[in-house]
Parts: sequence; structure tokens; C-alpha cells
Amino acid sequence: MTHNCRDLIDLLTEYMEGGLPPDRARAFEAELADCGACREMFDTLGKTRAAVESLRCDAIPADCHRRLRSFLDRGLHRQLDA
Ligand SMILES: [Zn+2]
Repeated sequence: MTHNCRDLIDLLTEYMEGGLPPDRARAFEAELADCGACREMFDTLGKTRAAVESLRCDAIPADCHRRLRSFLDRGLHRQLDA
């Protein structure tokens, strides 16, 4: 199976928010299991998002929260370009 880490990372956010159809989610999980780099990225993003989510309630205005998330997503893509 050819594996493009960038393609998988593009799906990460959608997967985490439950936005992928079940068959695509399964394919995503299979690829994740095969690729250490993607798993690491997934873990890192998961922890970061958990931290962001836990702050969301009152501490961060919605607009700021949105920008923080898009910042995190961009950072992730930059890492892949390096
Ligand atoms: Zn990968």
C-alpha cells in the first residue's frame, strides 16, 4: 500500500471530530497502525487538542480558539515539509 503521510494528516482533524465515514475511518486507522511517523503525529495532535479543548469552556474566546487551532494545523503541515 502506498502511503502518503500528508494525505493522512489532512484527514486527522476530520477523523478526530468523527467526520469520516466508517469505511474511511477504518482505512485511516489501518494506515495509522502501519506508520510510526503518522502515529506520533496523531498522538501529539491528540494531546494538544485535548489541552485546547479543556481550555475552551470559558478561558478562550471562540475566535481565539479557532485561530489557535488553525495555527496548530499549519504547524503540523510545516513539520511535514521540513
Ligand atoms: Zn505516515
